[in-house]
Amino acid sequence: MQAKNIAIVGSGLAGSLLAIYLKKRNHQVTVFDRRPDIRKVEFSGRSINLAMSVRGWKALDRVGIGDEIRKLAIPMNKRSMHVNGQPEYYQYYGKEGEAIYSISRGVLNRKMITLAEESGVVFRFNEKVWDVNLPEAKIYTGETEKGAWKEYQYDMIFGCDGAFSRVRHKMQRRSRFDYSQDFLDAGYKELGIPANEDGTHRLDKNSLHIWPRGKFMLIALPNLDGSFTCTLFMPHEGENSFESLTKEDEVIEFWKKYFPDTMEFMPTLLKDFKNNPTSALVTMKCYPWTYWDKVALVGDSAHAIVPFYGQGINAGFEDISILDDIIEQYKGENWQEIFEKYQETRKPSADAIAELSYRNFMEMSSKTADPDFLLRKKIEKRFSEKYPDKWIPLYTRVTFTHRPYAEALEIGDQQAKIMNEIMQLDNIESIWDTDEVDQHIIDRLEAYQINAKSIIQ
Ligand SMILES: Cc1cc2nc3c(=O)[nH]c(=O)nc-3n(C[C@H](O)[C@H](O)[C@H](O)COP(=O)(O)OP(=O)(O)OC[C@H]3O[C@@H](n4cnc5c(N)ncnc54)[C@H](O)[C@@H]3O)c2cc1C
Repeated sequence: MQAKNIAIVGSGLAGSLLAIYLKKRNHQVTVFDRRPDIRKVEFSGRSINLAMSVRGWKALDRVGIGDEIRKLAIPMNKRSMHVNGQPEYYQYYGKEGEAIYSISRGVLNRKMITLAEESGVVFRFNEKVWDVNLPEAKIYTGETEKGAWKEYQYDMIFGCDGAFSRVRHKMQRRSRFDYSQDFLDAGYKELGIPANEDGTHRLDKNSLHIWPRGKFMLIALPNLDGSFTCTLFMPHEGENSFESLTKEDEVIEFWKKYFPDTMEFMPTLLKDFKNNPTSALVTMKCYPWTYWDKVALVGDSAHAIVPFYGQGINAGFEDISILDDIIEQYKGENWQEIFEKYQETRKPSADAIAELSYRNFMEMSSKTADPDFLLRKKIEKRFSEKYPDKWIPLYTRVTFTHRPYAEALEIGDQQAKIMNEIMQLDNIESIWDTDEVDQHIIDRLEAYQINAKSIIQ
């Protein structure tokens, strides 16, 4: 394998992990970021919390850094549901021992940059890439768009510069480049629940907490220091929207009405609400992701999705482990074929997880508290535990397997069709846990020729 001189644009999670992978393959790797070194800027310790699941862990384990990162993460084996007027209740995510992991994006990013640097990757912070010469793999950096630029020449460039990628922007100007960008009507705001005085968590630490309220919802993920990072997802405009909550008394009234059980845990609510930005949520799709053997997009620059399946960076990390498989397959030769295979393999799955994530907003914000939905989940759970060779629930396929997202979407849709039929059975509320219902499901699975066994790895 010939060692290449490679530039990665973006030192976020995708850029820093890709750098570690490429360095392990003995390439010379330089990472550019427009930001200063985030390890040197003041950090409150709070940032978006990510739910890391098996796809992300696999990519981290393969380069031997999974155990280091696990030290920064808290397992969450269940959803903890907070429905007004009902006691808190739990919905377990998977089988015994299965969990997703809460990890602060800022803390993780700092660690990954350090690990990349220790492996020999060079970082150039405060260098914004303004332009790219795609055929010649040159990048141009500088302080301003109009000022003097520095030119760098590489063998290859990876765009890991996020949803509003500059590298992709350059590719977009080419003919036959598909691109779409859809903003959700809902946005989000980060809020906080501090730790108890003794540093313990105020809510169950091993849960992803959800307050589903129909068109809006609040979630909370645990941090190592005993605090929780909360995110309020809500429409930008209309009734119960960010636009409608501008004054302090409006926020308090709203909170008392919809999230009364959190009032005592959120002493900084008003401050957080005022100071923290309201951010937008976007789905971005594009194609192709590569330019000959010179340029490739990885992570959010290729596929930005809304966060409701907790898969954004899991998908980005999976891009990297799959790209590495393909590099191995081609013995690191013929990068044009490597890039072709990479984009052909990943694009259907990126589209599928975009669709699943979009749909999951409804599931999280309204259905998780709906009795019909809960009954469906109970039937599915019972049946899949009894017949694991016949049924893997969609959430499990996405979160706890390495099978392609596209397959999960396709089979998930077929399973949803079966469950719609099962829910129409007379007296389903009372017969849901009987052999009769099992047999109905088995008959329909046979009719649709679905078999879980053949698709488990
Ligand atoms: C509210 C929210 C919750 C989320 N929850 C989850 C979750 O639970 N699980 C999950 O897997 N994912 C989650 N995600 C998604 C996850 O955060 C993203 O998928 C991930 O951060 C993308 O990483 P990236 O490295 O591709 O891009 P980014 O994190 O956007 O990094 C891009 C980097 O490129 C740099 N850059 C940009 N432009 C330039 C330029 N011109 N020159 C030089 N550098 C540049 C930026 O400074 C940045 O460092 C969530 C996202 C949001 C918004």
